[in-house]
Amino acid sequence: MTTDASADVPAWARAAGPAHDVALTVLLEGPLPRSEIARRLGLSAGTLTRLARPLLDAGLLVETEGAHAASGHPTRPLDVDESAHRFVGVKLTQHTAHVVVTTLRARVLASDEALLLSPEPAQVVEAVAALVDGVVARAGATGSVRAVGVSLGGSVTAAGSVVDARFLGWSDVPLGPALQEALGLPVVLDNDVLSFARAEQWFGAARGCDHFAVVTVGEGVGYAYAVHGQVVDHPDAGVGTVGHLPLDPSGPLCPQGHAGCADAMLSTASITTRASVAHRRQLHRDEVYDLAGAGDPVCRRVVDDSARALGRLVATVGALVVPRKVIISGDGVRLAEVGAAALEAALAAQRSPGTTPLHVEVQVTGFAEWARGAAVTAIRTFVLGEGS
Ligand SMILES: [Zn+2]
Repeated sequence: MTTDASADVPAWARAAGPAHDVALTVLLEGPLPRSEIARRLGLSAGTLTRLARPLLDAGLLVETEGAHAASGHPTRPLDVDESAHRFVGVKLTQHTAHVVVTTLRARVLASDEALLLSPEPAQVVEAVAALVDGVVARAGATGSVRAVGVSLGGSVTAAGSVVDARFLGWSDVPLGPALQEALGLPVVLDNDVLSFARAEQWFGAARGCDHFAVVTVGEGVGYAYAVHGQVVDHPDAGVGTVGHLPLDPSGPLCPQGHAGCADAMLSTASITTRASVAHRRQLHRDEVYDLAGAGDPVCRRVVDDSARALGRLVATVGALVVPRKVIISGDGVRLAEVGAAALEAALAAQRSPGTTPLHVEVQVTGFAEWARGAAVTAIRTFVLGEGS
């Protein structure tokens, strides 16, 4: 949904064409001297001056105190007023809502989380609205929030409906409009893995990287990729396309009956179940990784088998998509840390000889980082003037 800000705020979307490119360049890479902006966008100094003037007048850009250039003339680099606009990001999981309030550059000002006592949509809306109101007040952001982004594991529509979110038992739930009414703010929904990837692209590990992939492990297996600077969106993005790729023919079964598919090898439930069965007592996720790190033979074996499978998945992505970087993240990311040796060995074994090593970055993040991703969905909507 389009989330134009209130009428008294100069919306970024109103700066069209090259002017918008100037504003976006400064948002993502500023503060920058005018000469550098002109060089990056292929503009003459005069054209940049003409384009920048209304942006400065509207308050979208500001001049900062700069250093002296080599010529001895003072430079006044252009920047954005990061704190003039605030955004809210909400990440929904099966049992919790995580909320952050951020600046225009997704710097987190305040965060909080709350248990969801019921998956009933009306109660989720009520709980999320109360949580958001509290965090916004604590951040001193009342009145300056431009948009709210909500991300979840599932598919959503541009009109703000959750088409399918199995972990909440939802299908066709108009979450966006309901939350918008409760909060009195524009609300935009996004798939959590796509929003995470977009956040990494603008303000995270994939900054300046036009071609990258994201693999997430946790309750499920998520995947997103970007080519030519665009995170690829498609109708199945919310369903997860890699969840049942075969990774280990001797692996356990997933609920669909596949032996050793990505879900069977990498999902938290599968990892804890395998370790728990061998130990004949219920183990929690972190217990499995702690025990593996301490040399417990069962947990070591389970983690290494899964980490090898993750290495094969990442190697497959590397071979077919040829990204400059693969980011591994998600709430189950300890798999890549504790199983690092097995992951790297599998990656190396599957990489074609003579090819350059695949750049893999393991990013340890909590749910607050996913909520920040949702805030970036809101920021993008505000800045680009389009639905997610
Ligand atoms: Zn499967």
